[in-house]
Amino acid sequence: MFVPGGSQIAVSRKSPSNSLRCPRCGTEHPLDERFCSECGFPLVYAGYEKIDPEYTRGDLVRVAGGRNQAEAELIQNLLLEEGIPSIVRRTAGFDVPDYLAGGPRDVLVAESAVPAARQMLLEADLAPQERAPEDDARGLLKTTLVVLGVVAGAMLLVWLLWLALPS
Ligand SMILES: [Zn+2]
Repeated sequence: MFVPGGSQIAVSRKSPSNSLRCPRCGTEHPLDERFCSECGFPLVYAGYEKIDPEYTRGDLVRVAGGRNQAEAELIQNLLLEEGIPSIVRRTAGFDVPDYLAGGPRDVLVAESAVPAARQMLLEADLAPQERAPEDDARGLLKTTLVVLGVVAGAMLLVWLLWLALPS
């Protein structure tokens, strides 16, 4: 394991919280690493036997989003309860200074964990809300009524102007 010289982190005493482990290949890393140097997978705290190696295969896929870091971490913890390792990343387009502290976050898991993660999120009612078809139909009806109203109003105006014009 590589320990940078002058590091304040003492790695002499091994406890679950003072080193990170790659859930995919098992390589250990110091706490200041975020990704595995061997395979690039996001690291978790060593001692997390909960992680299911089945859930670490494939590319990272977005399965959920949080409105902020705290919400994303809540989702992350729920996923971990199911043995699914995940990573939180700033939502694209919000990685500008204004949003560095806050802003929405994406929660990503390995491809092999996507079905399990989606199922879990669905049960926890955290899955991205899909709009019900009735809502779409109602929205369309409303738009149509508004358009008809505007058209009728314009026609009435034209008719009144035509009446007012001297023949
Ligand atoms: Zn690895």
